[in-house]
Amino acid sequence: MPTIDEQVSRRRTFAIIAHPDAGKTTLTEKLLLFGGAIQMAGAVKAKKEQRGARSDFMKIEQDRGISVSSAVMTFEFEKNIFNLLDTPGHEDFSEDTYRVLTAVDSAVMVIDGAKGIEAQTRKLFEVCRLRDVPITTFVNKLDREARDSFELIDQIEQDLALDVSPVTWPIGSGRDFHGCYDLVNDQLLFMEKGGNVVKEAIPIKGLDDPKLDELIPDYLLEKLREEVEMVREICPPFDLQSYREGHLTPVFFGSAVNNFGVRELLRGIGDIAPTPRPQEAATRLVEAAEPKVSGFVFKVQANIDPNHRDRIAFIRLCSGHFKRGMKLKHVRAGKQMAVHNPMLFFANERDIAEEAWPGDIIGIPNHGTLRIGDTLTEGEDLRFRGVPAFAPELLQKVRLDDPLKGKHLQRALEQLAEEGASQVFKPMMGADWIVGVVGQLQFEVLKERISAEYGIKVHFEPTPAYAARWVIGSDPLEIKKFRDANQSALFEDHDETLVFIARNAWHLETTQRDWPNLKFEATREQN
Ligand code: GDP
Repeated sequence: MPTIDEQVSRRRTFAIIAHPDAGKTTLTEKLLLFGGAIQMAGAVKAKKEQRGARSDFMKIEQDRGISVSSAVMTFEFEKNIFNLLDTPGHEDFSEDTYRVLTAVDSAVMVIDGAKGIEAQTRKLFEVCRLRDVPITTFVNKLDREARDSFELIDQIEQDLALDVSPVTWPIGSGRDFHGCYDLVNDQLLFMEKGGNVVKEAIPIKGLDDPKLDELIPDYLLEKLREEVEMVREICPPFDLQSYREGHLTPVFFGSAVNNFGVRELLRGIGDIAPTPRPQEAATRLVEAAEPKVSGFVFKVQANIDPNHRDRIAFIRLCSGHFKRGMKLKHVRAGKQMAVHNPMLFFANERDIAEEAWPGDIIGIPNHGTLRIGDTLTEGEDLRFRGVPAFAPELLQKVRLDDPLKGKHLQRALEQLAEEGASQVFKPMMGADWIVGVVGQLQFEVLKERISAEYGIKVHFEPTPAYAARWVIGSDPLEIKKFRDANQSALFEDHDETLVFIARNAWHLETTQRDWPNLKFEATREQN
């Protein structure tokens, strides 16, 4: 029976961050292939299609070619167990992405070699930086005409203020792309076009090895020798501590579609990416190898099957050895819950989890008891920090096409809010519920989902709402006075926390000035 330390040391829980089209889906597919989790390339896409058939909401995802909901994929490679958390790529879903990134220990940043760092890469990177998530870089699409490698490295360094340490170096590019030189192990990695064959590395004795002359055309060899010399001169050598602290990124070059460079990337993650990190709770730091189970909900997916109103809460296990059937304490509710049907996720299927270890993600089916940010433990009153809610930037009134469906709508809105798809604000006065989202596209998704999953037709209307702020104060009397004086601007979120919605910037400013003892928060920890 492996010990908890052994299990922890095998786990790598990570996410891929990328600008849409950089190759995240292709890379994911190839990683899973190496993991042996799926037998056939294309299975990830096939899964997308299956999901697409389920509801109209998924149709938006298909039509627009974006991935709206994220999932977990677990696979094994060379003794390690990898939990890959998928992040939605579209910028409208950055909040969901943010939460996924609270549940990983490291990230892979995929860059299109022809485009370099793009807007969404930068945004996602900033989220990683906030949490000091270590980043490994994969420069993709080298089989196409790419930017000069030094230019790319320079851009990463300048734009993201990171030290950059190449692990491999491309030999030629575009049509001329032959493969890479492995700077760490002094070996050649040649690419086989088509992606079905992954060639074994050819060991060489440094760049003066006469074998090179036989293997690489003269004009490329000369360039390679010059470039490698330069890389070794100007780039810092790999430094594990600096990487783990988020200051340095190792860089791999490759071509995901040709399955080239992917094995090296995966080995790299196995070798250097952190094992499940200690997690910060309100009262103390929780080490992964502690014997007692703890974990937090970072994602809730509702209505996976529209015929059953069930949801799955995705839990990141932070410590302990979880076994099926265990009774865990739901700290927010102060109740015990027996976990009979925990799920584990594989490439394109899910299964009942008999056990799970720190770093693993389990899904717990429930009827709404588990919410984003909730902590589960074996009894201790821990509350993990850092799963945030953001004040939505776009606010609209939701209107029913059939006014008799008010109660149903309320339930639909609350369920979707608990899932984190949107935020919903119930007025203290009047009947106009306000829905808040981070990106415009989410209104469309919501409308489709409310129709497909709840059978209710709604539309959204603009409303004079400039910003929503959570109202926090320590003096109940002060809060009561504030409530009485501002009723028409006050709402409750799905957790019944008080929310102030300002009509405009001036309204927000004057209210803050008039109530100096209250805090008007734009983010809120969810627990
Ligand atoms: P995502 O939006 O980041 O998930 O990107 P995809 O994996 O869907 O890839 C976007 C497009 O780039 C698709 O047409 C892929 O076939 C293509 N692509 C991905 N990797 C490579 C690569 O290594 N070389 C080339 N030439 N195309 C690639």
